[in-house]
Amino acid sequence: MAWEFQTDPEFQEEIDWIDEFVREEVEPLEFLLGSPVDLKQPRYEELVRPLQAKVKERGLWACHLGPELGGKGYGQVKLALMNEQFGRARFGPVVFGAQAPDTGNSEILAHYGTEEQKERYLQPLLDNQIVSCFSMTEPQGGADPTQFRTTAVADGDEWVIDGEKWFSSNAKYASFFITMAVTDPEAPPHQRMSMFIVPAETPGIEIIRNLGFHGESDPTHAYMRYNEVRVPRQNMLGGQGQAFVVAQTRLGGGRMHHAMRTVAQAQRCFDLMCERALSRTTKGERLADKQLVQQMIADTWIQLRQFRLLVLETAWLIDHHNDYLKVRKNISAVKATMPKVLHDVASAALQVHGSLGISTDMPFTDYIINSYHIGLADGPTEVHKVTTARQVLRDYQGGDEIFPSGYRPHVRERVRERYGFLREE
Ligand SMILES: Cc1cc2nc3c(=O)[nH]c(=O)nc-3n(C[C@H](O)[C@H](O)[C@H](O)COP(=O)(O)OP(=O)(O)OC[C@H]3O[C@@H](n4cnc5c(N)ncnc54)[C@H](O)[C@@H]3O)c2cc1C
Repeated sequence: MAWEFQTDPEFQEEIDWIDEFVREEVEPLEFLLGSPVDLKQPRYEELVRPLQAKVKERGLWACHLGPELGGKGYGQVKLALMNEQFGRARFGPVVFGAQAPDTGNSEILAHYGTEEQKERYLQPLLDNQIVSCFSMTEPQGGADPTQFRTTAVADGDEWVIDGEKWFSSNAKYASFFITMAVTDPEAPPHQRMSMFIVPAETPGIEIIRNLGFHGESDPTHAYMRYNEVRVPRQNMLGGQGQAFVVAQTRLGGGRMHHAMRTVAQAQRCFDLMCERALSRTTKGERLADKQLVQQMIADTWIQLRQFRLLVLETAWLIDHHNDYLKVRKNISAVKATMPKVLHDVASAALQVHGSLGISTDMPFTDYIINSYHIGLADGPTEVHKVTTARQVLRDYQGGDEIFPSGYRPHVRERVRERYGFLREE
C-alpha cells in the first residue's frame, strides 16, 4: 500500500509556477482594485484579464471542472495543493477561475442545467464574463434550512417566487441567482424545496440593503426580497423537491478548496510571526528566544501542520471513493477545524507583532474576522461538529453490559481464560 507525502515532480513544477506568479503578479492586485467580483470597476480589464490569460495559457484555469467543461479534471488533492498557493491572495481565486460562489454554481449548472441554460449562464460564468449569487439563507434561520419560507408556486408555464433572503453574497454584481424555495410545503422537510435559476433582470427582485462586515470596503451581502418573481418552468434545477440534493453538488469540493485557502492564509500569518520573532528584541534578547513566544510558535506550527494533513487526507479520500457522501464526516471535520486554525494562528501573529499587529497596517485583524466568516458561511461550526460526531458514531455500537468493554477486571479475566495454560506453567 502506497503511503506518500510528496507531490510528483511534474505537478510540483506547476505548484512552483503558481507560487511565484501569485507572489509577483496576483498579490499586488488587492492594493489596486476593489472587490474581486466587481467586473465593471475601472482597470479590471487592464489588470486582471492579462493574468487570467497567463493562467489559461499555462492550462491552470478553472481546474475544478471536468475536462468536458474545459478543466483538467484534477482530483481534490491536486486542487487542494493549488488552492494552498493562490488562496493566499485576495484575487487568487478570480485569477485562477475558482471564485466562490461561482465555482459551486457552475457545478450545479453543469450537472442540472439544460443546454440552453449552460450556453446562457455556464459558459460566461466559466469565462468570468459574469458573476453569480447563491441565494439560500433567510432572515429567520440559516443553520436550519427546514425553516425557510420563500415559496415558489406553479402558475401556467412559470414559477412565481416570493419571500426574503439574507446574506446573498455578490447579489448586486450577479447576472443570475440560484435560489432555493419551498415548492411542496406538505412534503417531508428535506423534500419541500426546489432550486431555481433566476436571471438578475427579472422584475420583482429587490435588494433591501447590502450588509458588510469589519474590514470589507464594499458591502455585498444582500438582504433581499423576491416580490412575485416569475421564472419559466424550465428554470427549476434538478427536479421538484430536490434542492438539498442539488445544494450538495456545490459544497463538497468547495469546502476543501476553502480549507486549503485557509491553510495558505494561516501560513502567511505564521511566516510573518516567525520573521518578527527573529527581528524584534526586548530586554536584551530576540522575541524568538523567549520561551512563551516559542510556545506560540510551536503550538501554531503543530496546529497548522495537523490541519493541513487532515485536509489533504480528506482530499485523498474524496479522490479514492469518488463520492462526497462517503467522506461526509471528514469534510465536516475539516470545515469545523478551519476557523479555529486561522483564528489561533492569526491571533498569535498579531500578539507577537504587538501594537503594530492590531493595526490596519498589518493583515491580522482581517484574517481574524475572516475566521468568523468561514465559521459561519456554508453552515456554522457547531452544525459540522454534530455531523462529524453523528457520522463517527455510526461506526460504533453500544454494549449491553453495565461495565464497558474496557473494564479491566473483565478484560483480565478473559485474557486469563485464554492464556490459562501459562498460569499452570
Ligand atoms: C460572510 C458570509 C457570507 C455568506 N454568504 C452567503 C451566500 O452567498 N448565500 C447564502 O445563502 N448564505 C450566505 N451566508 C449565510 C450563511 O450560510 C449563514 O450565516 C449560516 O448558515 C448560519 O445561519 P445564520 O447566520 O442565520 O445563523 P443561525 O442559524 O442563527 O445560527 C447562529 C448560531 O447558532 C449556533 N447554532 C446554529 N445551529 C446550531 C446547532 N444545530 N447546534 C448548535 N449550535 C447551533 C451557531 O453558533 C450559529 O453560529 C453567508 C454568511 C456569511 C457570514
